[in-house]
Amino acid sequence: MKILVLGGGVIGVTTAYYLAKDGHEVTVVERHPAAASETSYANAGLVAPAHAYAWASPKAPKILFKSLFMKDQALRLKLRADPRMWRWALRFLAQCTEERARINTLCKLRLCVYSVERLNEVVADTGVAYDGLAKGNLYLYRSGQSFEKGVAHTAILREQGVEMRVLDRDGLAGIEPALEPVKDRLAGGMHAPGDQSGDARMFTRNLAAWCAEHLGVHIEYDTRVTALVASGGRIERAVTDRGARDADAFVLAAGHGSPFLSAPIGVELPIYPCKGYSVTVPVGRSNLSPKIGMVDEDHLVAFCPMGERLRITSTAEFSGYDKSHSAKDFRALFHVARDLFPGGGDYSRPEHWAGLRPMTPTTVPIFGFARYRNLMLNVGHGHIGWTMACGSAKVVSDLLAGRDPGIDLDGMLYR
Ligand SMILES: Cc1cc2nc3c(=O)[nH]c(=O)nc-3n(C[C@H](O)[C@H](O)[C@H](O)COP(=O)(O)OP(=O)(O)OC[C@H]3O[C@@H](n4cnc5c(N)ncnc54)[C@H](O)[C@@H]3O)c2cc1C
Repeated sequence: MKILVLGGGVIGVTTAYYLAKDGHEVTVVERHPAAASETSYANAGLVAPAHAYAWASPKAPKILFKSLFMKDQALRLKLRADPRMWRWALRFLAQCTEERARINTLCKLRLCVYSVERLNEVVADTGVAYDGLAKGNLYLYRSGQSFEKGVAHTAILREQGVEMRVLDRDGLAGIEPALEPVKDRLAGGMHAPGDQSGDARMFTRNLAAWCAEHLGVHIEYDTRVTALVASGGRIERAVTDRGARDADAFVLAAGHGSPFLSAPIGVELPIYPCKGYSVTVPVGRSNLSPKIGMVDEDHLVAFCPMGERLRITSTAEFSGYDKSHSAKDFRALFHVARDLFPGGGDYSRPEHWAGLRPMTPTTVPIFGFARYRNLMLNVGHGHIGWTMACGSAKVVSDLLAGRDPGIDLDGMLYR
């Protein structure tokens, strides 16, 4: 088939890879001059089944409500007169029960574990460079109370076979020597050996180039899709600012931009942006910089070594589509970074970034044919789309081929 993939982030490009492997003639349409220029640009880099927890939980409403009145919170809600935000929030609140949190977490975990296996296959097949590390990630806790709760919280992961090694502060410093000078600030932590990390932007751009060279994938950059035209139960063409593009099938993979393309043809997608911030600093060959990905769970700040760079990431902010940032947005993040790794990088040369996670109320992505027999969805990957990308792409290529993806998709299909 001739297939048009709408969106050249990590989801669109991995989808193009699997579709082209199946022998389809694939074109990716991307509005920016390069792949991974939006949310896949500078995320936290963690490939983390051990962080597959659903965000909607019984505790979430209280945390978000508190954030309306407190500064520098890692989770923030900035209320706006935006009906999309309110509709999304009501659906999110409906997911905030013990039962739904468990179901949604199990869905995500299944996909994350499946996806890490697919990532390994893609890397073995293509050899793309992405500053990848397969040493697992660390999850750190500052207080005895949060440590105890954190370990208890992993019961759902362990019962599904995810290995989580509980460590005292010496054990943490044994795995990450850069923690040795500050280990007294930690109560303990966990090592998830099945986790990985890497630069999603480098991966996506290198994979896009590999697909173009080896699989004949055509990538149309600087091309914005403005509308999808439907007729007789199928999508006929995509209208772009460079003319119309027809195809036998269309895969929507436009991240937080997806609902704007689908709503006019009657496909309502419950996706709303959740902003996050990162800084990337040079580390050179510093021994004081972490060499393994990790999360300070008490402050919700992530650290990820990427070659000679260190990426530091934090914050989940529901504040609409604005991607701007200022120094105050990074204050708490730098405070934690300097506290844990005072010599971890050159903090005077930060590359600041903010991006929008395409969140669904369940925090589970959405796949499958939507209303039209040739419109396939690969959307709504939220806070963990880098982890889920290769698995999601394989699922979508299997669904388009009419094959059994070999993973239970209950809770992930468009309804
Ligand atoms: C701060 C932060 C930290 C994160 N950390 C992690 C992490 O540690 N691990 C993890 O697994 N995930 C993480 N994520 C989530 C992950 O980055 C996202 O889930 C993932 O990048 C989503 O990929 P995507 O391809 O769906 O979206 P995008 O990367 O946004 O790609 C969508 C593409 O579609 C294009 N597009 C949209 N509309 C149009 C149009 N009309 N015409 C043409 N092109 C269009 C856009 O330009 C864009 O390039 C993080 C996200 C943030 C913000």
